[in-house]
Amino acid sequence: MTDTSFSSLNLPTSMLSNLSDLGYNEMTPIQAQSLPFALEGKDLIAKAKTGSGKTAAFAIGLLLNLNQRDFGTQALVLCPTRELSTQVAKEIRRLARFKNNIKVVTLSGGQPVGPQIGSLEHGAHIIVGTPGRIQDLIRKGKLHLERCTTVVLDEADRMLDMGFYEQIEGIIDYTPKKRQTLLFSATYPEGIQKLSADLQTDPIEVTVESLH
Ligand code: ADP
Ligand code: MG
Repeated sequence: MTDTSFSSLNLPTSMLSNLSDLGYNEMTPIQAQSLPFALEGKDLIAKAKTGSGKTAAFAIGLLLNLNQRDFGTQALVLCPTRELSTQVAKEIRRLARFKNNIKVVTLSGGQPVGPQIGSLEHGAHIIVGTPGRIQDLIRKGKLHLERCTTVVLDEADRMLDMGFYEQIEGIIDYTPKKRQTLLFSATYPEGIQKLSADLQTDPIEVTVESLH
């Protein structure tokens, strides 16, 4: 049997002890399959259902790769809805407790843009949000992604269902060509394959079958 404890990965002790404080001892199947590649900086297409622990499957890698002294945005997580953005940001903040002062900002639609612009004033290491609002803030010159070397598309199939294809591609155009792009999706329709072909480089595919 393969070892699915977090300690089987080469993680800093501070990260391991925070995971243990959160009650995370064993990796979930999607984490066990994704993390070794995510930590190596590989592009990934990960197919797994809701509730499988996808957030930690991408967040642990992006948190460990951060340069904390650089408040320019280094990682962007795109989510289909405001609710999901809030949930993902909350989980990233819990996982980020292994260090002090990692700044995670949520930028999603349906909320006033003013305070969001304010929250970007002193920079943010990680941005989580919905494509429409993020594109809006880029166009307003308030969000800069030229040093954003990790991009996560969370629930990518739902984002495509909501018509975000063009916006996702438009946003990623602002990030460096040399970056890590992680795509998470419950299903793998043609649009996802096209998105992957446009945005990823030699992606590793991992699939976790649903247990129900
Ligand atoms: P998904 O994005 O796949 O829907 P989440 O990342 O939101 O899943 O995680 C679902 C729940 O599982 C969350 O409450 C999270 O705290 C918990 N969780 C994630 N990874 C682990 C783990 N390795 N051990 C225990 N609980 C975990
Ligand atoms: Mg999720």
